[in-house]
Amino acid sequence: MRVDELVHAAHVRYAAADDGTVADYIPALAQADPDWFGLSLVGVDGGVHEAGDAGIRFTIQSISKAFVFALACEAIGHERVHERVGVNNTGLAFNSVIAVELNAGSPMNPMVNAGAIATTALLPTSDAEERWAVVRDGLSRFAGRPLDLDEEVYRSETETNHRNRAIAQLLHSYGRLAADADEAVDVYTRQCSLAVDAHDLAVMGATLADGGVNPVTGEQVVSAEVCRDTLSVLASCGLYERSGEWLFEIGLPAKSGVSGGIVAVAPGKGAVGAFSPRLDAAGNSVRGQRACAYLSRALGLNLFASA
Ligand code: GLN
Repeated sequence: MRVDELVHAAHVRYAAADDGTVADYIPALAQADPDWFGLSLVGVDGGVHEAGDAGIRFTIQSISKAFVFALACEAIGHERVHERVGVNNTGLAFNSVIAVELNAGSPMNPMVNAGAIATTALLPTSDAEERWAVVRDGLSRFAGRPLDLDEEVYRSETETNHRNRAIAQLLHSYGRLAADADEAVDVYTRQCSLAVDAHDLAVMGATLADGGVNPVTGEQVVSAEVCRDTLSVLASCGLYERSGEWLFEIGLPAKSGVSGGIVAVAPGKGAVGAFSPRLDAAGNSVRGQRACAYLSRALGLNLFASA
């Protein structure tokens, strides 16, 4: 009951915040209603607490990076992913080309575009369709339901993702890509175009909080070690160049996406899925960050708090 009240209070508190702007560099994302705002909290016991537009579908975008990283670690071991992709924050924008150049071709971490494309390329599959099937099925197991591709957003991003294609070619030129560059970008673009709602994000995050067991379906999606490693990367890199401020204020591993989603994970407890399309300059949902900060404080979730 108390958790329900707090989730509703977080929604009421920030529903009028109108700072930030809706992403439009992927043309289809500009159609989002800036006032959409949904919150969902799912516990490792499967309990669900929601407020607002928790059932509105949007594309998962960069939040997919966290779960594809987990799938890659599960498939080939975290040492190989670490060695190929890295785990340090770039301190630069999520789509930075300079970050790759400055670091001798290293994508630096799996939560920026370069690292995510390199991670998708690491999945041990024989062709593009199998790579896509592994990603879609894996993310669906995290969500506990089959996730569909938003064809319109996929098409829109495919027509405009020249920068991501350039990043992939650059990685290829450094010998950093384990698959064909165009194939890796295409599967990456599809994974970003999977449609989810705030509830799905909370279930996916709660699976990471629960040692890899989906609290709704009971399925072991990845190992507890993979969850630990994924959450540590989210703590340092989940909100791009704002990751330090986020960890300082909120104290939870999290991942944001440019359509306005955020998943924040409280290990052993559960996860918050937030959705609101207005973004700060780094590409993180403004209301989503504030609501997570409020809930982290009110529920005592900050990992670094001793009291
Ligand atoms: N698909 C988007 C891109 O590659 C994801 C970016 C994001 O959510 N920050 O640009």
